[in-house]
Amino acid sequence: MSARRALTAAAVVGLVVTVCGVRSAHRTVVDSVLVPLPHPSDGPAYRGALHVHTVRSDGRGDDAAVARAAKRANLDFVIVTDHNVPPLPPAYIDGVLLARGVELSTTVGHLLALGVTGAPFVVEREADPFRWTHANAGVAVIAHPLTPARPWTEWARVQEAAAIEILSGDSLFHEALRPPWSSLMAALLSFPFNRQTALFSLYDRPASVLQLWDKLAAQGRMLGLCSADAHGIPPYKDVFEQFVLHVAQPTSPRSGDAAADAATLVNLIAAGETFCAVEALGDAHGFRFEARSGDRFVPMGGAVDAPAALAVRLFYEDVPSDVTIVLLRDGVEMHRSKTATLDFIATQPGAYRIEIRRTAHRLYFGDRETTWIYSNPLWVR
Ligand SMILES: [Zn+2]
Ligand SMILES: [Zn+2]
Repeated sequence: MSARRALTAAAVVGLVVTVCGVRSAHRTVVDSVLVPLPHPSDGPAYRGALHVHTVRSDGRGDDAAVARAAKRANLDFVIVTDHNVPPLPPAYIDGVLLARGVELSTTVGHLLALGVTGAPFVVEREADPFRWTHANAGVAVIAHPLTPARPWTEWARVQEAAAIEILSGDSLFHEALRPPWSSLMAALLSFPFNRQTALFSLYDRPASVLQLWDKLAAQGRMLGLCSADAHGIPPYKDVFEQFVLHVAQPTSPRSGDAAADAATLVNLIAAGETFCAVEALGDAHGFRFEARSGDRFVPMGGAVDAPAALAVRLFYEDVPSDVTIVLLRDGVEMHRSKTATLDFIATQPGAYRIEIRRTAHRLYFGDRETTWIYSNPLWVR
């Protein structure tokens, strides 16, 4: 190649990088920021990251680095789940609760055992990861169930898990690494200029996992959780800011005793009193979903008899017009609302869950409607 051609090629590449950089530096994911209102029965938000790896397995940072990143991302807790090693005791570091679990790597897929204090021998893990988890008072969560690299394959016993991961930070990056790499290239070009927008551009509503979840939740009790599955690359803080697990109010554990608070947190997760938010689309703290049957209020994860009054509330100063509340029963859309409330009398049995959708800007081309908040189901009997 002549010097002149090389120079021209370099100039073109430089121009593309500059244009992409300038554009993404000023690109926001959504048009308007939602400001949560204080709610009478509420404490402050209680939010965190599930499924985080440290140097004790294949993560890049230690507990201190994870806690520091979580604090900067405004998280209250992190659930550290290193592969196959006995977890350290729960701890508060930098004001962040580090709760614990283990990610069991088995030949049928990866299973999180939350709240356990030991780790299984290889034979126990391979023979029956559910039995080991339950015998050790753990909560079983199927990790990244449909990720091509490490999918879950033991479907006959899936109902022994309390939950599946519906969103996974790590799976997002694995997906982006598959050809034709268009979303990856766009994200890489933008990452130095606008990390949040770049990482968000890899996210899409995970239709096939949601379909699986709806099928399982219609057959029995199955919760959905979002997971960071953070390893330190991309940086912990950037991943912690994407997929946030919110604990529904006002039951958050804040006694200051790490072991007691970690146990309460794991119990709340097992009860289903959480929801999953893609926080690039907004602060999800103003979201509420509950049921009333007679004079009894039932939170997410609970079961009520029909007819049940289901209520969604968005406690925000202002709810912009791109926000839509969608109610689904066993995965089928039943009702939608463009206001800050949705009320529905459920007369049919089923698993009812909520998605809050928003219009998000793509990095370079156009807009798309995608899901901001995924509630856990309420079961109507
Ligand atoms: Zn895994
Ligand atoms: Zn993992």
